Amino acid sequence: MKNVVLLGSTGSIGTSTIKVAEDLPDRIRLLGLAAGNNHELLLEQARRHQPEAISISDPDKAAELRKLLGSRTEVFSGTEGLVRLATLPEADIVLIAIVGTAGLQPALAAIRAGKDIAIASKEILVMAGQIVMAEARRCGVRVLAVDSEHSAIFQCLQERPASSVRRLWLTASGGPFRTTPKEAFAGITVEQALRHPSWVMGRKITIDSATLFNKGLEMIEARWLFDIEMERVAVVIHPQSIVHSLVEFVDGSMLAQLSTPDMCLPIQYALTYPERVPSDRVQTNLTRLGTLTFEEPDTERFPALTLSRRAGEIGGTLPAVLNAANETAVQAFLAGAIGFSEISSFVDRTMKAHEVIADPTLDQILEADAWARRQL
Ligand code: NDP
Repeated sequence: MKNVVLLGSTGSIGTSTIKVAEDLPDRIRLLGLAAGNNHELLLEQARRHQPEAISISDPDKAAELRKLLGSRTEVFSGTEGLVRLATLPEADIVLIAIVGTAGLQPALAAIRAGKDIAIASKEILVMAGQIVMAEARRCGVRVLAVDSEHSAIFQCLQERPASSVRRLWLTASGGPFRTTPKEAFAGITVEQALRHPSWVMGRKITIDSATLFNKGLEMIEARWLFDIEMERVAVVIHPQSIVHSLVEFVDGSMLAQLSTPDMCLPIQYALTYPERVPSDRVQTNLTRLGTLTFEEPDTERFPALTLSRRAGEIGGTLPAVLNAANETAVQAFLAGAIGFSEISSFVDRTMKAHEVIADPTLDQILEADAWARRQL
């Protein structure tokens, strides 16, 4: 039985994690649940799963939940609440699925308290991968991937070192604008960008999948998770989203992980690792799928890939700036304040204007993040 703390329980990854926990009641106990604003769903989840503690951003909502739940479940709020949950003495693993950067502090707190962490929130590794992975090594805890691409690579690598790898290949669906001509990009609407061809996800990551910033962030995430230089992290477009990623080994052999797309699979693998636990949820019929295709990404129409590679190669505070600038631009696009193509041009401008600090402290990373957010 693993005691799991789930940060971001009301989101897309959070609700899939709850499905996995419900599939495996003898193996997974939801010890703590945290949400941002959705107190109705959090209340429903708390009543159903009886966690030891929950947390919500707003202290007033926390007070309301405290009254409704009685003394069985402790109720916390704000960043302090996330840290309290991440360090609950009985917790074995903390799954972080909070959109944005709010997951960083609880991730570090969990690691320092000796908990394994499962990361969906890629922003954490993009911003502070070096610090997070060094802390995890120092504290002897595992950092497990929830992202389907990184889970695929992890499953293929089987903890072999980077020296056995020629290249890591991240697959990308290409998003809704894979075949859209460049001239049409300026007219792309929010509604069109939110229609992802193969995955149902939160709004921020869906826009990132349309610009390919999601893949760019994943390249940097892979660089830290698997301790490998950016040059050996490559991207290939695979519109069917069946091959979730591949490892090309030094002898030329390639291993891939395949399944129909369902986030429950990588979530379950992270929560039950190192075991492989039976589940009927995912069924893949290769003959019904027919053809699998692969294409070179078009970095002219999708500059996010080049910008992310540059940020990953230069390192220091630059990936945090890329991440924050992108998050700010996505919010502005969703609010109708800027056009689709302006997301990557704003990130480019902000990266060029930033004075990079090599080997930054956590405070310097957070300052760079705040600086980038002020540039729009
Ligand atoms: P959603 O927008 O669906 O969910 C975000 C979750 O974070 C919600 O539960 C939200 O709470 C919670 N939240 C936001 N801010 C705070 C805060 N300050 N404190 C506590 N909780 C907070 O996002 P996704 O589930 O799609 O994505 C989550 C992360 O996982 C992202 O980093 C994304 O990149 C990554 N990811 C997602 C994948 C997917 O398939 N969706 C795949 C791989 C990675 P509330 O709703 O109550 O406000």
